[in-house]
Amino acid sequence: MSFNPVEMIRSKRDGETHSAADIRGFIEQFTAGSVADYQMSAWLMAAFQRGLDERETVALTEAMLHSGDVLSLPSVKAVKVDKHSTGGVGDKISIACGVAVPMISGRGLGHTGGTLDKLEAIPGYRVQLAPKRFERVVREVGVSMIGQSARLAPADRRIYALRDVTATVECIPLIVASILSKKLAEGIDGLVLDVKVGRGAFMKDLKSARALAQALVRVGSRAGKRVVALLTDMEAPIGRTIGNALETREAIEILNNSGPADTRELTLTLGAEMLLLARIERALPQARARLERALADGSALERFLRMVKAHGGDVRVVEDPERLPRAQARVEVLAARTGFIAECDAYALGLSGVALGAGRTRADQAVDASAGIELFAQRGERVTRGQPLALIHARSKSLAQTEVARVGGAFRIASSAPKARRVVLERVSR
Ligand code: URA
Repeated sequence: MSFNPVEMIRSKRDGETHSAADIRGFIEQFTAGSVADYQMSAWLMAAFQRGLDERETVALTEAMLHSGDVLSLPSVKAVKVDKHSTGGVGDKISIACGVAVPMISGRGLGHTGGTLDKLEAIPGYRVQLAPKRFERVVREVGVSMIGQSARLAPADRRIYALRDVTATVECIPLIVASILSKKLAEGIDGLVLDVKVGRGAFMKDLKSARALAQALVRVGSRAGKRVVALLTDMEAPIGRTIGNALETREAIEILNNSGPADTRELTLTLGAEMLLLARIERALPQARARLERALADGSALERFLRMVKAHGGDVRVVEDPERLPRAQARVEVLAARTGFIAECDAYALGLSGVALGAGRTRADQAVDASAGIELFAQRGERVTRGQPLALIHARSKSLAQTEVARVGGAFRIASSAPKARRVVLERVSR
């Protein structure tokens, strides 16, 4: 039977429901090149406006998953659990501790950072490994972090690129299918999702973030995986750094059992959920204690070092993060008044990071690993007029200076202290 993409677009435009077979056919034809990008874009906008119900979302996820290879990693005997963040600013958390973590990550999107760009701040780190080598690193080291290849969920790669330029990103069924198609292709048993909420996230309010988390948990569980989601705060950046080398340095600090309290808290909370899903521990307090021991005795850092080595990265950077790329120019941003930091706008700071070269405005752009922003003050802290709030790192002084006003404006200073920040807001499971 010939397949008619125009009929798919019309039917969704008019608010009809697709059958699973139609969705499968549509994605197959798109992957094969018989549906044009403009037709897919029109359908995406129709789906954005009219929505997809749960059956359609499951069908879309499965069709996108099977648009490429699905790994099974048969030689990895440990339970395989991954962690995925829906995207934030200063978001630098990945952890493995007795669980096998086959992580396929992305690059920065819009104002948000990407794991691959952060890993590539380590000289020599290769984000593309052949599937057999990926499996070997997961088996022998316990964790491998790579990029999505052309063969893993290729439909998502192309659809995501179209969504990015057609204003169709912020749509729950499309996000669910995009994230889960990639993650299910990793051959995992379980998945911990960090669903970001707030001005620096794609989901700006608790209600839509909760709906996204619930949909991810339901659809992931229907695919036979153990899935849990945490809603976490993204009003302000996580930690005290934004930018690829700066965030890699901070992640190494955490692995060295120091670093900012919020980043450590999130790392321990997400990691504990991973240990629970893998059934390595039965309760969250014990799981946290296990992770705290791994940070304190150096085994977490050692695991990271082995992964960097297996990916061809310069391990001296892990031992001495000062060797990471450093920007030529640094410019301080000073507090305009005395008071308490009431807001530290993750969105504005994320946009500044992109403008400095830490992210992209076009998919084919290279990032500047050394560019970014160091934050000296966080929400709730008291500052005095003239005190440095942030340090901008850029390839030139003139570029750094163009962002002083935006970075300064991201901090709202009030006379009284705001309510304490909660990093983890809610937990969603089945
Ligand atoms: N991350 C993804 O991988 N896909 C989306 O649609 C949004 C965030």
